[in-house]
Amino acid sequence: MTVDLSGPLMSAFSKAKKEFEDAVRKGDIENAKKKALECSRILRQLSKYDEFNRNSYLKKAEKWERIANDVKIKVVTTETKIDAKETKSDEDKDFRSYVEELISKSNVKWSDIGGLEEVKKLMMETVVISALKKPKSIQPWKGILLFGPPGTGKTLLASAAAGSLKATFFNVKTSTVLSKYFGESSKMISTLYSVAREKAPSIVFIDEIDALTMKRSQDLSEASRRVLSTLLAEFDGFQDKKNDTLVLTLAATNTPWDLDEAILSRFPRRIYVPLPDKKACIEIIKINIGDLDTSKLDLLAIAEECVKKFYSGRDLKILCQEAIWNMIREENPKLYELAELPFEELKNRTLKIRPLETRDFEEALKRVKSPLSKKDIEKYEKWVEEYGEYQ
Ligand code: ADP
Repeated sequence: MTVDLSGPLMSAFSKAKKEFEDAVRKGDIENAKKKALECSRILRQLSKYDEFNRNSYLKKAEKWERIANDVKIKVVTTETKIDAKETKSDEDKDFRSYVEELISKSNVKWSDIGGLEEVKKLMMETVVISALKKPKSIQPWKGILLFGPPGTGKTLLASAAAGSLKATFFNVKTSTVLSKYFGESSKMISTLYSVAREKAPSIVFIDEIDALTMKRSQDLSEASRRVLSTLLAEFDGFQDKKNDTLVLTLAATNTPWDLDEAILSRFPRRIYVPLPDKKACIEIIKINIGDLDTSKLDLLAIAEECVKKFYSGRDLKILCQEAIWNMIREENPKLYELAELPFEELKNRTLKIRPLETRDFEEALKRVKSPLSKKDIEKYEKWVEEYGEYQ
């Protein structure tokens, strides 16, 4: 078994970088060079643990090797100071390019979301009020907290809000920011909000906000603590900025009971995104089946079964995909044999399909399992009663 050392390595990197900066400040060239090489070595080690970000780590490692070489030929303290400044602005560029990677274009429309009528209305209302010209005394919500079981459409709602406003959509997963930028995540958050203001109107979607709370882990790392305070400061600062700049933060969590007062107080508007009821299940199934014929399906019976099984919107999507595949395999039993044919030949052939039937779903209903139970749902409902806004 390989042991993931990325956490300790990140700490070691932050330490080496700080020592490099101290050495540069003191004009201690030899030590600065040593520390720059140490940074590079740590980054190379880190690249081994994080497949996804390997190239980025290797690029940074090369950059630190260049810094080490440059430091060697500079003897005058002021020049090394300039050098350190360049390093910083390089890093700023790194943050910026990472933040820009978080931007996604959202084409999601409110009509792509099945059910959740009340939730959609509350969200639309908030988005509209934030965008409208209004007297100073009317303060829009700075952020909304979306909470509920996993897969119920929280990300989808945020995408629809961005899609409807044609806003820049920043999709931020808290755990990824924390692991990727560790000691520097709070700088990341500042850069994020500065780019969001530049590219306004913007929607900043912060998923898994519970990762930043004290309640979840007793020894919340220093990094998470700093990210949280930067986030809250950005939140408070936003109100003072130009009135016509729309930067709306939508935060999401599957475990609202983990949130502490610091976060809850910044999100007075808390919206429960529940599991779909029968009517919503039918709508979500129809959205996922698209233009296939559903006239032979007993959608109500399927929806009743889905509610009994505590299916989320995501489970329903998987269910529909499975059912469609059952139909396709039945109609095209030797589909795999066509794999021998060249692409041009395949393009001239047509997949056989037929209207979906309830039996296609019966198999799928057996296979798709929700991780939730009645007890889990009761836990959400209890929290809503105490802290939520909707239902
Ligand atoms: P969450 O953020 O709550 O975990 P997501 O928004 O990521 O859930 O939902 C995952 C996927 O499930 C969506 O991309 C969508 O395909 C489907 N889905 C979930 N809820 C709905 C819904 N209410 N209407 C339509 N599709 C849904």
